Amino acid sequence: MSKDVNRRKFMRSAAGAVAAGVAVPTAMSEEASAHSAWQPVYTTDRLNIRDSPTVGGGTIRTADQYTGMRIEDGPYYNDGYRWWYFRVNGDADEPGRVRGYAADDWTTHPNFAYPTWGRISSTYWDTRDGGSRYHRGCDITNDYGTNIYAAREGTVSYAGWVSGYGNVVYVDHENGYQTRYAHMDSIGVSSGQWVGDGEYLGEMGSTGNSTGPHIHFEIRRNGDKLNWPMVEDTYLWSKTAVPKNFPYISGTVYP
Ligand SMILES: [Zn+2]
Repeated sequence: MSKDVNRRKFMRSAAGAVAAGVAVPTAMSEEASAHSAWQPVYTTDRLNIRDSPTVGGGTIRTADQYTGMRIEDGPYYNDGYRWWYFRVNGDADEPGRVRGYAADDWTTHPNFAYPTWGRISSTYWDTRDGGSRYHRGCDITNDYGTNIYAAREGTVSYAGWVSGYGNVVYVDHENGYQTRYAHMDSIGVSSGQWVGDGEYLGEMGSTGNSTGPHIHFEIRRNGDKLNWPMVEDTYLWSKTAVPKNFPYISGTVYP
């Protein structure tokens, strides 16, 4: 029996205990209590996305661990859990985006949020230049002109043309972190400008070394290109969680 099946079995038994009226202690960690509408969060384990905020609600999808989401509404207190209405990104089992209700016990806050919406067309370990190097970024495809947003608050340290990247914006964050947004059609910010979480940076394009409209998104620390769980050919909502808590960066994203 796989670990995943065991997990689902556990969730069913927990639901059964609630239905039988057995008291189930609700985890109210400091982190979980910070949930509010329009924050990005991601799943810390497999999580049932339901059609109502109750343990008896139909399951729309069981989201994989490390699925990025964004809270639209809530909370709702039912059956011993605190529920929210989420936008849920695609995952390895189901590439499409869905909306639905889930309990927040198996969700947490990210440090960065995805800067746009669309399909992940290339992930970190894909190769480039005939296999001589790794991609070390995340490509998201959509139409020309799709809005690009800051993945976290910070200072624009560069906005302009770079060979390969085309039109690109660099945003510097605390503790040596930097995000890069490449191949943009137009840039709407300038160097030195402060941008808040989720603030508009410009529009998607295909400038530089690119074969179609997409954004090449990188998270760096002290120059190193960082990785996080990302699944090719899955669909993202904008401003949903980049599913990782990076070390040495504090706080949460509130775009
Ligand atoms: Zn790329």
